[in-house]
Amino acid sequence: MNRETIRNIMNDEGILPQSKFGQNFLCDETIIKEIVDLCGIKREDRILEIGPGLGSITYPISELTDGLTCVEIDHGLAEYLSANISNAAIVNCDFLKYENCTDPDVIVSNIPYYVMTDIMKKLFGEFSKARKMIFMVEDEAIARIDCGPNTKQYGPLAILCSIYGTYNYEFKVPHTAFIPQPRTTSAVISFVRNDSADILSPDFVRFLNSCFSMRRKMLRKNLAQTSPSEKISEAFIRLGLNENVRAEELNPNDFCGLYNALK
Ligand code: SAM
Repeated sequence: MNRETIRNIMNDEGILPQSKFGQNFLCDETIIKEIVDLCGIKREDRILEIGPGLGSITYPISELTDGLTCVEIDHGLAEYLSANISNAAIVNCDFLKYENCTDPDVIVSNIPYYVMTDIMKKLFGEFSKARKMIFMVEDEAIARIDCGPNTKQYGPLAILCSIYGTYNYEFKVPHTAFIPQPRTTSAVISFVRNDSADILSPDFVRFLNSCFSMRRKMLRKNLAQTSPSEKISEAFIRLGLNENVRAEELNPNDFCGLYNALK
């Protein structure tokens, strides 16, 4: 879909982009093709797209598989897509409330930036069996995704990303690739699952959130809200952790060990 097609659909359907839903529609055909190629879709794959918008990525994916499900919060956009794409399931709801029992193979999203962290946490917690995830994110958000212990940005999101699999920064996307144009530059990133993702679950995400609930406090204080202190002490000794350590000092593997020890 190019700029003209998007403009025509918006005019014909009387659609005005809603900034409260982070609606910036992708209108650069080269970038759309690159994103779809990155998905590496096989015909039998089940694909989950979050926030299909006017269908820039949705249409080309629907040509590759009949297993596409899209979750769109905006009623008007969901209605438009349902009427125009016959071989995809369009679900009209807030993805943060979406419940599903089928595991997708591939997940793709030009993520609404205002809710990026929550969407990614939900994906890694509930849909981590997917073999690949491809996201468009705000370029400046990469600092929260690709960072290690003892940095300001390090927290549950970076840990989940690292545990899920191999991360790759694919390419930058200029603001001119969207209608309307966002203020910031975007980036396409990908994750390929590896076996360490087996530990991921909603409970594991809750555990990480609780570890960082009071960032500057000692980790054992945060853990004491959910686990008995003797169990915490035993786990720290077994894993060789300093009793005064803070969550931001541990690496992703430490969190996996601690989770298993406290379960
Ligand atoms: N995929 C389209 C594209 O690339 O042109 C649209 C991307 S736009 C940046 C983000 C889309 O996510 C919008 O269609 C918006 O309505 C939708 N959205 C925003 N918040 C959402 C939520 N919580 N759940 C599901 N969809 C959401």
